[in-house]
Amino acid sequence: MALDPARTVAELKELRALTGDDDGAQRVCWTDTWAAARSWMRDKLAELPVEIAVDEAGNQWGTLAGATSRAVLIGGHIDSVPNGGWLDGCLNVLAGLEVLRRIASEGEPPVTVRLVDWADEEGARFGRSLFGSSAASGTMADQEEIRNRVDADGIRWEDALREHAVDLDRALDAHRQLQDAAAYLELHIEQGPVLESMALPVGAVIGTFGVERWQVTWRGQAAHAGSTPMDKRRDALAGAAKLALEIRDIAARAGGGGVCTSGGVVWKPGIVTSVVETAVQLLDQRHMDADTLATMLREAQEASERFAREEDVDVEWEKIWSIDPILFDERLVELADESVREVTGQSHRLPSGPLHDAAEMARAGVPTVMLFSQSLRGLSHTKVEDTKPEHLELAVQALDRLASKTIALVSNQPSSGS
Ligand SMILES: [Zn+2]
Repeated sequence: MALDPARTVAELKELRALTGDDDGAQRVCWTDTWAAARSWMRDKLAELPVEIAVDEAGNQWGTLAGATSRAVLIGGHIDSVPNGGWLDGCLNVLAGLEVLRRIASEGEPPVTVRLVDWADEEGARFGRSLFGSSAASGTMADQEEIRNRVDADGIRWEDALREHAVDLDRALDAHRQLQDAAAYLELHIEQGPVLESMALPVGAVIGTFGVERWQVTWRGQAAHAGSTPMDKRRDALAGAAKLALEIRDIAARAGGGGVCTSGGVVWKPGIVTSVVETAVQLLDQRHMDADTLATMLREAQEASERFAREEDVDVEWEKIWSIDPILFDERLVELADESVREVTGQSHRLPSGPLHDAAEMARAGVPTVMLFSQSLRGLSHTKVEDTKPEHLELAVQALDRLASKTIALVSNQPSSGS
């Protein structure tokens, strides 16, 4: 059976009709609609010579046994945010299904090929993403916090998991699924504007950004707007405002796609007749290179000290969260780049701003790469999320090409025996 990328587009529409409404996709994980999507997927898989199983973390696997147990994994997520788009996550599950059909039709592959639908990538109902893939990778370390999380209706996460046959205490046992994993491939929509701006349908992803997220608190002195001369003010908002502009230069100096965002400033007293006394500013910085990211942070901190002196205010930094950049496997990035070029004529390598299940696989030490398909207007997590059907078809072809190259690579590698 030859690859039929148009069938993937038809199946994406079928899934949308089955699990969406006028407001968008409704496949929120650990709900009946999500379970219906999965059962629909199992029916599709059942037409192939694959073994279907759900692991301890609720991840659904379709395994096409090959000549060795060494496995190439293709992964995505069928869950969505509420009122989500028709492509986020499920594009790869259905593209992977089509690739699996093509491979199965050619007889036993030289290595095992497995399609995985990760559970709860979005974290939409309980506010923590990458549940299934972080359990499999072994990075999940917040079981107690997970146990006590509740949804908007007060239902405990642990109880919702149990309703879907997942025992939180055994979720980490899903790690055994990665025992023979030799490579992990994931196709996703870009969810950003880069490929569209370059008029490219598909690109190769080099990794996920490192992130530094900080709260910057500026403290000055509230003073009367009428009686305080301009040179006697201690205006906390002035410091925050200067930093909000300075980070543009910091990002420009860093280059390499680095981004800085002052995503919010809340100030007090916030009345028209007073100089601002305190301003609490949120800062998010991202870069693919750990040293450059550290430089971006240091430059922002140094600039803030300078602005604090200039404005005669105090400044204090408090870390909210950070994660190191995660680089994908060099050889697989090369193969992804080649695959995209062969299918579309031109490739582009780009970093991913958002984290994905692929980041968890890379953290687990599985050689990993992603492909991005173009996103129209860069929009996602909304019902207007879209990609042209012809670009979706090219993306399916590129994934198929990448899967073939990866299978060839893995089958030629000496078995590590572990
Ligand atoms: Zn996604």
